Amino acid sequence: MTANEQTLGFQTEVKQLLHLMVHALYSNREIFLRELISNANDACDKLRFQSLDRPELLGDDTTLSVHLEVDKDTKELVIRDNGIGMTREDAITHLGTIAKSGTAEFLKGLTGDGKKDANLIGQFGVGFYSAFIVADAVTVLSRHASVESSEGVRWHSSGDGEYTVSTIDRPARGTEIRLTLKEDAAEFAEGYRIRHLVTKYSDHVAIPVYLKKDEVKDDESPWEQVNQATALWMRPRTDVTDDEYKAFYKHVAHDFSDPLTWSHHRVEGKTEYTGLLYVPSRAPYDLWNRESPRGLKLYVQRVFIMDRAEEFLPLYLRFIRGVIDSADLSLNVSREILQKDSHVDSMKSAVTRRALDMLAKLAKDDPDAYQTFWSLFGECLKEGPAEDYQNKDRIIKLLRFASTHSGDEKQTVGVEAYLERMIEGQKDIYYLVAESYANALGSPYLEALKARGIEVLLLSDRIDEWLMGHLHAFDDHNFVDITRDGLELPGEAPVESAKKETKAQKKLLSRLKEVLADQVSEVKRSQRLTDSAAVLVLSQDDLGPQMRQIMEAAGQSLPVSKPTLEVNVEHGLLKRLDRETDPARFAEIARLVFDHAQLGAGGKLDDAPGYLRRVNALLIELTD
Ligand code: ADP
Repeated sequence: MTANEQTLGFQTEVKQLLHLMVHALYSNREIFLRELISNANDACDKLRFQSLDRPELLGDDTTLSVHLEVDKDTKELVIRDNGIGMTREDAITHLGTIAKSGTAEFLKGLTGDGKKDANLIGQFGVGFYSAFIVADAVTVLSRHASVESSEGVRWHSSGDGEYTVSTIDRPARGTEIRLTLKEDAAEFAEGYRIRHLVTKYSDHVAIPVYLKKDEVKDDESPWEQVNQATALWMRPRTDVTDDEYKAFYKHVAHDFSDPLTWSHHRVEGKTEYTGLLYVPSRAPYDLWNRESPRGLKLYVQRVFIMDRAEEFLPLYLRFIRGVIDSADLSLNVSREILQKDSHVDSMKSAVTRRALDMLAKLAKDDPDAYQTFWSLFGECLKEGPAEDYQNKDRIIKLLRFASTHSGDEKQTVGVEAYLERMIEGQKDIYYLVAESYANALGSPYLEALKARGIEVLLLSDRIDEWLMGHLHAFDDHNFVDITRDGLELPGEAPVESAKKETKAQKKLLSRLKEVLADQVSEVKRSQRLTDSAAVLVLSQDDLGPQMRQIMEAAGQSLPVSKPTLEVNVEHGLLKRLDRETDPARFAEIARLVFDHAQLGAGGKLDDAPGYLRRVNALLIELTD
């Protein structure tokens, strides 16, 4: 032990992750090499970027690369880069803790079931720690480009909870990672195996990756380049195979599974850039954490600038991953500049359009894959119409709903398909928001539309009422909430409700109004019921039950609103009421009709005990 050696414990989260990872990722363990080469590549990218301002960081050693060496006898694998390197402090913070927000919650979500956890861990991005899946011991030798040779660092751990750091002399800039492979991972000390893995996972990495040859003839270089080392996104589309696109996705997104689709495009003209966008086939663990990093990897003329630049896509497309390479931005852009640069604005609208086009194409070409996309990211997309008014119609086309036509609760119906199925004379798009699909499907509000054969979109996600508040119309077709007043339906009305209101009916309505004056603003004969006795109808401007619940949960005070009670005068219950001469009894039954209408609207009863008392009284009468 040298005088400056320190033994430190890993952060608790690291210990947990190490333990879980080694088990969960066992069958996928070869990905460790991709992760370590990715880190080496990132370190070179960072150095190249910082050396724009400070050329002395690069010095004479200007060719950035990764070198791999294996030793079958000692079962050692070495990964060396001449990138930015680490200081002693860096090694302690970066290789002893996990900086990602939400790590603790993420770890809680793991089940201990290897297969499921492997998926989750894949999305989390295991990075450096994946070395411990194959290695008994990991030694990192590094020196940061900005410090003297005497300030190198040696970091060492057997992955069992502790690590040591010491200061060493290290003339070479950059990082060397030495793995002492586990007995059963000896295959990774074989040159052919490593060569194969580099081609499989890291071919597109932009800097050259060299492997030390087993045997060297005279005059020959001992190093063999094993990857293509051209920035994949700069190659013409026709030259890139699907497998290459997929491998590159795994590199940028740190994901294990293939993307659902991608879009690769070069834009020339006023703003010039190349974009490569991907839709993941799995949702990241932090999709709903608004603080978590998102966005694209930004390059300027192939020089890496920053990870997860969020200025190029709106929030509702935060699930998209990929790369953007600008020809116009200056190499020393910072996040602050990005927020103001006019190129960025026009790139953002162009990239957004591309992303939406990519989704539209997926919906058209591969409905099954689109369905997977929708189940993962549909709720994000629903934020779109409010956030991005300009692209509202494009987003609306991408939305999917359950409907009275689709037959199950899967959200598969798009507005375009809906419009094709409209009945004669129909212009508007009808929808119903309810607490659940089952509540929507059995809702009394549907009766008149069913009778006329009109399809209704059935919405039950938490944000649906809010979403519909932002849609208004698509083309010339209004979105119409069927629970509101003023509903006018095309097609034939059921015979009874088409008849003129009689005197007797008028009288019944006003008797009802009198006893329910505290609960409702009006009592009307309904045109929308065939089977149910009554429904409550909100005015166009009233908040619906979902918004009321959201506001209530947020502790906001709710505006008072009295609904209209619409009754089905043909219904047995109403006929019975009409015959009732005892005012007290009339009031009791009228109140029951109101309670039922409240339940039918998916709302809560405002007098549940009273309701139970009333129903009990009736039941007892029945059994007498
Ligand atoms: P991530 O790459 O997702 O940040 P890692 O666990 O792979 O997570 O790495 C943690 C950090 O360690 C990196 O962000 C980087 O700062 C540092 N690091 C890892 N490998 C290297 C390397 N080869 N050169 C310089 N720094 C590195």
